[in-house]
Amino acid sequence: MEDLQPISFEGIAIDKPIIIAGPCSAETEEQVLGTARELANNGIKIFRAGIWKPRTKPGGFEGIGVEGLPWLKRVKEETGMRTATEVANRAHVEAALDADVDLLWIGARTSANPFAMQEVADAIKESGKDVPVLVKNPVNPDLELWIGALQRIYNAGVRKLGAIHRGFSAYGKHMYRNMPEWRIPIELRRRLPNLPIICDPSHIGGKRELVAPLSQQALDMGFDGLIIESHCDPDCAWSDKSQQVTPEILNFILNTLVLRQENTTTENLTLLRQEIDRLDNDLVEILAKRMQVSRDIGQYKKEHRMPILQAQRYDDIINSRVKQAQEMEMSGEFMRSVFSAIHEESVRQQIEVFNDRLR
Ligand code: PEP
Ligand code: MN
Repeated sequence: MEDLQPISFEGIAIDKPIIIAGPCSAETEEQVLGTARELANNGIKIFRAGIWKPRTKPGGFEGIGVEGLPWLKRVKEETGMRTATEVANRAHVEAALDADVDLLWIGARTSANPFAMQEVADAIKESGKDVPVLVKNPVNPDLELWIGALQRIYNAGVRKLGAIHRGFSAYGKHMYRNMPEWRIPIELRRRLPNLPIICDPSHIGGKRELVAPLSQQALDMGFDGLIIESHCDPDCAWSDKSQQVTPEILNFILNTLVLRQENTTTENLTLLRQEIDRLDNDLVEILAKRMQVSRDIGQYKKEHRMPILQAQRYDDIINSRVKQAQEMEMSGEFMRSVFSAIHEESVRQQIEVFNDRLR
C-alpha cells in the first residue's frame, strides 16, 4: 500500500492530528444540528454520526436509517464540516454516497466479517467515488483480519484509506470497554507504515473520564488522529451515553492535549518502551489475579483438611509451562525458574491463608 494518499476533502484543509467528532448515533434533526453547530464553532472539521447502528441485542436503538441522511447534508451546508457515517452493507454504501456523505467508516463487527467487507468494498468501487474510508479493527484481536479488511477496501481502488483503533472485546469486567492491546496497532503501523491510524478513545474507554487520558496516550504513541463521540446532551443519548462528552468538554480535552514533536529516530524506541511498560503492568496484574486464585485454593484446602503441597500437581504445572515456553521460543530453563518463583509465592500465600492471615 505504497500509494496511499492522505485523508483529505476538496475545499477544506484537514490539519494533523485529524479530529473527527460527533454523536454515536444521529437521533433527531435537532440533536444532529445542535451538536454539529457547537462542534463547528469549536473548529471541528469532520462530523461523525451513526445512521445505522449495529447493536449487540435486538430492541435497542438501531439507528434512524436513511431518514437521517438529509440531516447530515444540512450539517455540511450549514457548518461547512465534512460528514462521516458507518456503513456495513451495499445498501448503506449506496444510500450514504447518494446523500453525499464525505467519509465512510466500517465498524468493528463488520470488519470481522470478510463477506460483509467484500460487499462494502464492491459497492464503493461501483460507486466510482473517491471517498475516504476508515476501517475499524475487528472486535477480536486479529491483526491479519484487520489487514485483510483494509486490503479489500484498497483493492476496490480506495487510496484515501485509514484505520481506526477502537479496542478489542474481552470477556469479563475490565477497566476498559474494549481492551486497547496497543501492540496490535503498533504492529499495524510497522506492517503498513503509510497507513494513517486514528484512535477511538470513546469505544476503547467506554467512559467519559477515559477519553482525555486515552487520547493523550494515542497522540504520544504517534497516532494520526482521534475519533471522539460528542453529543449535545450525553445523558439523554440513545446509544453509548456513558462515553459521550459535550462539545464543550471535547473542546476542553482537545485544548489540553499535548502534541508531541515528530522525532522519527527515537519514535520507534519510545513506542516499544511504552509497550514494555504496559506489558509489565499486565504481568503484575495477571500475577495478582493468580495469587488471588491460589489463596482461594488455600481456603478450600484448609476447609477440606487437605495438605498445601501436592507434588504431582507441582510437576505437572512446571512441565506444561516449560513445554509451552519452548513452543513459544523461550528457554525452558527460564520458564522453569519463573514458575518455581511463582509457585513458591503461591505456597507462601496459601500458608498465610492456613494461618488465617490472608483470605
Ligand atoms: C461507533 O463508532 O459508534 C461504533 C458502533 O463503533 P464500533 O464499530 O467501534 O463498535
Ligand atoms: Mn458508539
